[in-house]
Amino acid sequence: MTEPSIPKKRTTIYVEPNLLRKFKEICIREEESMSQNIESYIARVVTVHDKGNPQLRLERFIGKVNQTCYRCKGHFSNLVKVKYASGLVADTCPECLEYARERKLVKKVLGAT
Ligand SMILES: [Zn+2]
Repeated sequence: MTEPSIPKKRTTIYVEPNLLRKFKEICIREEESMSQNIESYIARVVTVHDKGNPQLRLERFIGKVNQTCYRCKGHFSNLVKVKYASGLVADTCPECLEYARERKLVKKVLGAT
């Protein structure tokens, strides 16, 4: 039995045209939905930045959190450099790395930043 899904809300965003074209090309090439990718990104930002996120509060006391994950834009102290299937090399947080691995988007983890 599948769970009932929450109805989606259609919205409009403004995106730089070349960026949007490349994003669309990547989504087509990797057989992914543009909407699902954007929704996942939004969900990740909300998770990372939502008030009361224990991980975020804890990290403030751990030390250097000035590295920015390219994907969720969250600030972390433990980013790794990742080479993606698309050719992009970017600093990525553990959660986004897991997300990308699940979707087979990771070509190689290059190591700590
Ligand atoms: Zn991230």
